[in-house]
Amino acid sequence: MYERAEARIDLGNLRHNCRELKSRLTPGVELCPVLKADAYGHGALHCVGAVAEAGADRIAFATASEAVLARSVAPDVPLLVLGALAPGEIEMAISAGADVSAWEPGFLATLADQAAAAGLVVGVHVKYDTGMGRLGTTDPELVLELARTAEAHPNLRLAAIWTHFATADEPDRSFLGQQSVRLAELGERARREFPEVKLHAANSAAMIADPSSHFDMVRPGVAIYGMDPFGNDPADHNLRPVLSLHSWVAAVRDFEPGQSAGYGRTWRAESPTRVATVPVGYGDGVRRGLSNRGEVLIGGDRYPISGTVSMDNITVDLGPDSGAKVGDEVTLIGAQGDEAILAEQIAVPLGTINYEVTCGISPRVPRVGTGSGPN
Ligand SMILES: *Cc1c(COP(=O)(O)O)cnc(C)c1O
Repeated sequence: MYERAEARIDLGNLRHNCRELKSRLTPGVELCPVLKADAYGHGALHCVGAVAEAGADRIAFATASEAVLARSVAPDVPLLVLGALAPGEIEMAISAGADVSAWEPGFLATLADQAAAAGLVVGVHVKYDTGMGRLGTTDPELVLELARTAEAHPNLRLAAIWTHFATADEPDRSFLGQQSVRLAELGERARREFPEVKLHAANSAAMIADPSSHFDMVRPGVAIYGMDPFGNDPADHNLRPVLSLHSWVAAVRDFEPGQSAGYGRTWRAESPTRVATVPVGYGDGVRRGLSNRGEVLIGGDRYPISGTVSMDNITVDLGPDSGAKVGDEVTLIGAQGDEAILAEQIAVPLGTINYEVTCGISPRVPRVGTGSGPN
């Protein structure tokens, strides 16, 4: 048995989700799964190979070191770093052979110098801020100027002009539409000078909700992991959850009425019952906000997390009649029998989103790749 807890990463489901998403694309549109933040907490190292196998044309990351890690297991797959790079990170990104995002002349000059020094040609994706208000330039003339610089420099290659949507998960698509139009209009101008330049914009929500946002490449993150970008049930979009989180029953104790479990005595038995202690806690990413609010599965049944979540343990009220015993598997995210706990459901009492639930699983929890599920 594993120690404390383990996260199982169903690589069959990961491949299924990639293929499912790719099947929605017009042939020729590229699929660029986003594996930043250790693949949204799923463990980038094994996910890189699975998405490459399942049709990823390129893989995106936020940072240079994430791209370096991916390169160590995938020598050939094209990579893209989406985020801002500190000057000291540029060399790492280009030595990994990753394409790089740029939106500022000084940065592009530094990138060109470093590429020349390394004797490499770096693909540049010029970022156009059409409404996210975060990174990129809002000035279309500057986008074109940067594109010209990239095209002209022998150590740079103009790869794409791209943007990022601010509201793609919202039912009102009007702002998404405006952002798309801005990119399309600039793209049309750019293509008169650079017929080969690609455009890309869509995250998971946009790619699912609005095929007109696909342009030449899509960048789904959350949907690749079988989570719903709209926070509902991923099965609605034929997506299958990739991550499940498990621990086990370390102790079962009889409780008298009035007896409490955990810090602060926030839960007390109202009648005679049995309480299981499970060796997983907020040190593993089971958020303290789930104290007296979360649920777990044991033996295919749902039980409440009763008492305060501590760093290394939670306590679960089994009721008087449960057959649960020491050593039984406890599922915190995922399915047991007919019951399932989705990351989307855990996010609700925490006032957060599914993304943060899986990203929050701490490095203390080993990620174990499993191959089950259809290929
Ligand atoms: C994270 C990210 C994505 C993926 O977003 P999802 O909502 O997870 O699909 C796409 N593009 C950029 C720029 C991102 O930062």
